Amino acid sequence: MEINYDGYPGNTVGGAKRWIENAIQPGGFLSAVIENDLREAVGRADDKNIHLLPEIIRWWYNNAPAASWGSFDRCRKWKLLKTAPTNFPDTWDCAHCGNAILPDEEGGEDIMGNPVCGDCIDKTRDQAEASHEQDR
Ligand SMILES: [Zn+2]
Repeated sequence: MEINYDGYPGNTVGGAKRWIENAIQPGGFLSAVIENDLREAVGRADDKNIHLLPEIIRWWYNNAPAASWGSFDRCRKWKLLKTAPTNFPDTWDCAHCGNAILPDEEGGEDIMGNPVCGDCIDKTRDQAEASHEQDR
């Protein structure tokens, strides 16, 4: 997935890019944004970013890989993924075929809440529907 940074609001685009591409920890404000820590984000924002906060969140929501931000835990896993591919966390392996799920891949979760890759998600849905049929 090619990410377009042109419309990034404010002055933290460099930090955003370094985080998404290489998981280099950004400054306090942007770290709070990607960890979904509203309290710290507001507390650490400068005069410009405090007004741009909704736009910044919207950019991340619409452009950044979902696995790269949104909670402290996701950020921790993103850093593991980017800095040590051999330590790829179990939770990001497909529960059905065992293949690694890429951060920008269209995957999902099966009915048990396990991560599923893009190839398997369709099969999983078919199976779920089939088992519903059997229930009837
Ligand atoms: Zn799979």
